Amino acid sequence: MNNGINKLENYVHGKWITGDGDGQTLFDAVNGDPVATATTKGLDLGAALDYGRRVGGEGLRKMTFHERGRMLKALAMHLSEKKENFYKVSYHTGATRLDSWIDIEGGIGNLFSNASLRRKFPDLPYCTDGEPIPLGKAGSFMAHHLLVPKEGVAVHINAYNFPVWGMLEKCAVNWLAGMPALVKPATITSFLTESVVKEIIDSKILPEGALQLICGSAGDLLDHVTSQDVVTFTGSATTGHMLKAHPVIMQENVPFNMEADSLNCLVLGNDVIPSMPEWDIFIKEVRKEMTVKAGQKCTAIRRIFVPANLLEDAYIVLGDALSKTPIGNPLNEKVKMGSLAGHQQRKEVRSNVEQLLQTSSIVFGDLEKVDLIDANKDKGAFLSPLLLLNQQPFDDESVHTIECFGPVSTIMPYESMTDAIALAKKGKGSLCCSIVTADDKVATDFIIGAATHHGRMLVLNRDCAKESTGHGSPLPQLVHGGPGRAGGGEEMGGVRGVKHYMQRVAIQGSPTTLTAITNTYQQNSKGIPAVIHPFKKFYEELVVGEQIITAKRLITSEDIDRFAELSGDHFYAHKKETDFTNTMFDEQVAHGYFILSAAAGLFVDGSDLGPVLLNYGIDELRFTKPVYPGTEVHIKFTCREKIPQDVKEENDIPKGIVKWMVEIIDDTGEQAGIATILTMVKRKENNT
Ligand code: NAP
Repeated sequence: MNNGINKLENYVHGKWITGDGDGQTLFDAVNGDPVATATTKGLDLGAALDYGRRVGGEGLRKMTFHERGRMLKALAMHLSEKKENFYKVSYHTGATRLDSWIDIEGGIGNLFSNASLRRKFPDLPYCTDGEPIPLGKAGSFMAHHLLVPKEGVAVHINAYNFPVWGMLEKCAVNWLAGMPALVKPATITSFLTESVVKEIIDSKILPEGALQLICGSAGDLLDHVTSQDVVTFTGSATTGHMLKAHPVIMQENVPFNMEADSLNCLVLGNDVIPSMPEWDIFIKEVRKEMTVKAGQKCTAIRRIFVPANLLEDAYIVLGDALSKTPIGNPLNEKVKMGSLAGHQQRKEVRSNVEQLLQTSSIVFGDLEKVDLIDANKDKGAFLSPLLLLNQQPFDDESVHTIECFGPVSTIMPYESMTDAIALAKKGKGSLCCSIVTADDKVATDFIIGAATHHGRMLVLNRDCAKESTGHGSPLPQLVHGGPGRAGGGEEMGGVRGVKHYMQRVAIQGSPTTLTAITNTYQQNSKGIPAVIHPFKKFYEELVVGEQIITAKRLITSEDIDRFAELSGDHFYAHKKETDFTNTMFDEQVAHGYFILSAAAGLFVDGSDLGPVLLNYGIDELRFTKPVYPGTEVHIKFTCREKIPQDVKEENDIPKGIVKWMVEIIDDTGEQAGIATILTMVKRKENNT
């Protein structure tokens, strides 16, 4: 405690410690009262990184993707139980309940989403990337790309606007990849991040060292990063560029992912008129983006482009909508827009608006005045929503370069869709860009025309508006980031995001060696002859590479006729009376699906109840050579890969998915088809 004010703690080398001295005072954004102090003075940040690499990294790298995913799920469930505590702290940042929901539950949702992503990975600490690559004609030499977790720390330097989501959206991904994190939230709202980290550490769900936190200045942190670390930065372009040019980042080639300010835009398609539902959708979206989080969202709409003939209608209706947003103390339930995060932030927004006002005018709002519910405008960092009008968007650069990080947006006219595309690009790279249109031709032309300059694009119309997640919401399944001014970074994006924290390495060798390394059967690998039929084995007993070579089956013309009758597939190639001149075939050919069905007849062993519960489907299927009547086929049937499944409820049968490679071989020894089929196989015991 410092003069009765909470002194924030840092969590480094497995301990909660306060820095030296009084540190920076952090204020309640609504009433201006001090809430905490923060300092990192005296901390050995080099030792913290070393601890993360040694202790946290080692613990996480031993775990498989599935174990790490289940850990994320457990953490998400734990934080969900504690969420009301975080809401209480979040009000001090000026956030309304909805703003905090985006931050807190959005962050927890990210943990859940990445937990589910484990199913896209093997039950190993590492994984393959892409397809196997045959390199020798005889099939004895091949390559595969492998992804292994980096041996460093993910250092996250975050902006002040999302103290919880900003941390969790990044950490969820590096933890799933098997890397520990050191989080440095922006100091002014770090009290909220600290409260969440305290719960995470207390829960003991993560292995020790997987998460460290510093509240206050980054000090000499970047002097100690190495090439195995990854630095992510979210904040202003000025700070980002300075950090990206840090000599150690450059010398060590440290991956640096930057998400910076961006002049996101929304275009009202030239097909939309005020009587259409798309008009209301447009008004609602802009209003929401300007007022949620008081406009302090990296993705918020800063530029609005409307057809010139609708400009006046648009700003009048938008102004009217904005006037209906109650502003004030977020603890008051009537309030829909809270304050900015602090007085300094408001000062910066005002100063940037003043620069824009040299070429624009205010059509809604007031830079100084704001009507408040339950709050004092001098104590709290409140600002009225401000809608600016700029009539010359092609002649004025300021509106495409100056970001006002608050409830501020500028409306501008355009003449043609070609102009709208050119204007959207004048932001020189943004995180997201939306178009509201009911015409899919307009949508296609706009998306293809403007896509190079944006990280994410949303097409809004009456068909999707109800379910739309909105212009401003980055989603864990989708890439978040943008080119150029937006920083050139990329994060989240499902499996894509995880790869940022892994080293890709090309591995060359024999198929048998690569089967051992990848724990996935590679074609042409030496199989392990099965002593008993694999369908008689439980999930745990099966070994990747275990193989049976089946008996042979003669394919006859009558078989093909009967399959045509049974299935109703009378394609000309399967009929013996067809004239095969000028076709791809010599004579009547067997249906591919018949050959696969005949294959199942050869490899399935299951007339008695056994561990195989059901056929789950087919991943890949290729018919590589025609099978004519008189051909004898046999099957090479190999256990290709095993994927564990969780027991979801008490009565669930413990089980896993087993992938099998089915190679259909004809009497010349050549392959006539190949498939990967999936079965659900019972476990002996529930050990997940
Ligand atoms: P900022 O001033 O650039 O700060 C961002 C982070 O960098 C903070 O954690 C800050 O720490 C840290 N930092 C500042 N100087 C540093 C240094 N010399 N060494 C190491 N770290 C340093 O940005 P902000 O004011 O927090 O955030 C607002 C800006 O972020 C807006 O421009 C917004 O567009 C952008 N933003 C972008 C995204 C995105 O995803 N693209 C998301 C959110 C926000 P201190 O707080 O301790 O100074």
